[in-house]
Amino acid sequence: MTDLATANKNLWRDVFDSEDLRYCFNCSTCVSGCPASNANPPLLIRNLARMVILGLEDELLEQDTPWTCVTCSRCEEFCPMNVKPFELCLAIRKWQSRNDETRIPPSIVEIYSRGYTQAVERNTEQRKALGLPEKLSAISEYPELLEKFRKMLMQTQVISKNAYMFEGV
Ligand code: SF4
Ligand code: SF4
Repeated sequence: MTDLATANKNLWRDVFDSEDLRYCFNCSTCVSGCPASNANPPLLIRNLARMVILGLEDELLEQDTPWTCVTCSRCEEFCPMNVKPFELCLAIRKWQSRNDETRIPPSIVEIYSRGYTQAVERNTEQRKALGLPEKLSAISEYPELLEKFRKMLMQTQVISKNAYMFEGV
């Protein structure tokens, strides 16, 4: 059971200093259009917003799902309360990185190994009807490009500081 006695009431200021967050009424419109809500585990931005509002610091630090956001910004367009859930998602990633720089979300290893976190497999029927390949092509199908991409990632702190995690990937 969640213990609010240990909650950090200033967490929202640390993560996403926007008073608009308090207008979130948990409607889930942000989740309904989110492609990463089909991921495993699903990205439920509404739940992450609730953790921030309630000050559930430890739970928020453990979440890997913000890293599966594909930055499409649909949630931002759909949110009826202008809470800016997409910006919140990015702010949570930054906050997690600031608070535990040794933490490597599984999605970063996935990005390094194949160039994306999850295939977006909606619209398969529409793609077929248009004569397009069923799946979007991925950088992992082009070894030279993947190698260039990895070199670029190695220049980021989160990967270079933890290079051992990517050996043999
Ligand atoms: S962030 Fe916006 S769309 Fe998502 S639950 Fe809150 S009010 Fe609804
Ligand atoms: S921006 Fe991220 S959280 Fe928002 S709908 Fe797209 S994938 Fe989901």
